[in-house]
Amino acid sequence: MTDIDIRKDGHAGRITLNRPKALNALTYEMCLAIEEALWTWRDDPTVKLVLIDAEGNKAFCAGGDIAEMYATGTAGNFGYGQRFWRDEYRMNALIAEYPKSVVSFLQGFTMGGGVGVGCHGSHRVVGDSSRIAMPECGIGLIPDVGGSYLLAHAPGRLGEYLGLTTDRMGPGDAIHAGFADLYVPEESWAGVKAAICAEGNVAALNEAAQPAPDARLAAMQPRIDALFGGQSLGDIVNALKGDTDEFAADALARVSRNAPLSMACTVEILHRLRREQLDIRDAFDLEYRFTSRAMEHGDFIEGIRAAIIDKDKSPHWSHDLGGVPADAIDTMLRPVTGEKLTFERKAQGMKIGFIGLGNMGAPMAANLAKAGHEVIGYDMATVTVNGVSNARNGAEAASDADVVITMLPNGSILRAVAAEVIPAMKNGAVLLDCSTVDVESARAVAADADAAGLLPLDAPVSGGIGGAAAGTLTFMVGGSKEAYQIALPLFETMGQKSVHCGPSGNGQAAKICNNMILGVTMIATCEAFALADKLGLDRQAMFDVVSTSSGYSWSMNAYCPAPGIGPKSPADNDYKPGFAAELMLKDLRLSQQAAEASDADTPLGKAATDLYRRFVEEEDGTGRDFSAMLPRFEKRGRE
Ligand code: NAD
Repeated sequence: MTDIDIRKDGHAGRITLNRPKALNALTYEMCLAIEEALWTWRDDPTVKLVLIDAEGNKAFCAGGDIAEMYATGTAGNFGYGQRFWRDEYRMNALIAEYPKSVVSFLQGFTMGGGVGVGCHGSHRVVGDSSRIAMPECGIGLIPDVGGSYLLAHAPGRLGEYLGLTTDRMGPGDAIHAGFADLYVPEESWAGVKAAICAEGNVAALNEAAQPAPDARLAAMQPRIDALFGGQSLGDIVNALKGDTDEFAADALARVSRNAPLSMACTVEILHRLRREQLDIRDAFDLEYRFTSRAMEHGDFIEGIRAAIIDKDKSPHWSHDLGGVPADAIDTMLRPVTGEKLTFERKAQGMKIGFIGLGNMGAPMAANLAKAGHEVIGYDMATVTVNGVSNARNGAEAASDADVVITMLPNGSILRAVAAEVIPAMKNGAVLLDCSTVDVESARAVAADADAAGLLPLDAPVSGGIGGAAAGTLTFMVGGSKEAYQIALPLFETMGQKSVHCGPSGNGQAAKICNNMILGVTMIATCEAFALADKLGLDRQAMFDVVSTSSGYSWSMNAYCPAPGIGPKSPADNDYKPGFAAELMLKDLRLSQQAAEASDADTPLGKAATDLYRRFVEEEDGTGRDFSAMLPRFEKRGRE
């Protein structure tokens, strides 16, 4: 990777951030690469210590690369950001708890995500150019990457001051606040680094260190403690307003620019960390509670828009400075319900056979390879997928694999492929079918795999081709808990959510039940729009009412079939799929096959199947999105 240079140098493991034009902003891939290097060197006796530095003289690292988070978040996909934060915090925690010395050289700006990499090691070196800050409250986040822990342990109420005002620390301030340890003039850094690597210890660093320059903020400490000692953001704002000196006025001006919800939660987190004497893992946990919700319920998207996208510097925050209610803070800081933050090493390097490299399978396999797994693929058609090597047949892809994934068109093809690969698989391996197939085929294949000593899972997906490419699919999983646990890291790589639905076949059952509801509600939504047209009811008015009334649904609110109404959807792109009508027909047929086999009465599912069949087979539905039912109804009168 050119954005980061990871290598061994003498007795040191070296990590050099190498995006100087972007002020070394930290990408997701850089986070993963740092973590992997640290794990590798942890037990390598030839690596005595780790040295982290950065190219360029403007910045060690000015923050996390939030462009992709913004792009995915505005599209309603919060999983990317959540995964980024989880993986980043796990890497930050690894630095904080590393059993060997970690030396960082922090020239220029070290902010936000840069603090997570540069300020948790054992020897944090600053020079005259160093400027360290936690500016997150300015963009609707909270001081994270373990920054809350450092702030909570800064002298007096300096943590509140730095978090809320986002003020920058010079080298003396950073040492006073506990964000750095040693001041070393920058002209001697190159020589010190060379000596550290050659000697495998920090003796040269300690020799080169000089007394820290004056700390501007240390002189202000009594004022900071008096003004920032309140129990809540409201108390602090009142104290600042009640004081007229230049320092208080400047602090109030700074605080007034930042997101009130973020600042109120920052105060609460710092108080909690100190009051309950929590450790750094607890700090990451509290931070993740906030950040995992920051896009959906907080001000993060608006903060990025105002600061970086539109650059109008006029964010519309969700709360006023004087009035963040306690329940808004509670909502942001209650324990997470989805994917939890963990600190264990992520499973790496499984050997995966991937059969069926079509529209869905190819990007899924590419994501697995990108995450460091060895992926051997096979498809009947000639397909090349980045990072995936090709086998000559299914059995070759499956032999010796820890997990075999299938992503195939239907149940009979799955049965045929399973008959070929099951005998080739090694005992105890997982056979993970992600195709959408009938429940019967899923259960039959699972029984055969089980009998052969394998661990079968059926895990159909929702999220479509876009979700497969972005790694944000949802998996509905049937099979044993043991198999689910083994496959979990793969679900996390290929998707943003997985639900264990019970024994074999239950994943497919969940998928077809979900899609039967989807088919029915889409038809209901489309026919209601067509009726509204005939009644002279404006489509926008219809949307405004229904999307906030009892008729609301995903079809109406998130995927509105009327062009130009509601959020962007395939209707706005001339009904290019999206989710093609013929795929919806396939899923509806599976629902009716299952209903037939289990003697379930599904009259609306049956009607929806018939309508989509006519649409696809007799009308112009093939190749159009399944929401193109609306123009179909528009053209018709009563039958
Ligand atoms: P696709 O047709 O693009 O891919 C299927 C691939 O399987 C093809 O490349 C084909 O050559 C290969 N194949 C067929 N028989 C094979 C065999 N015997 N051995 C090896 N390879 C074989 O289909 P897709 O869109 O990738 O969908 C795959 C599955 O995912 C389907 O079950 C579908 O219902 C489901 N799904 C698709 C979407 C979507 O939006 N496309 C969304 C959710 C679920």
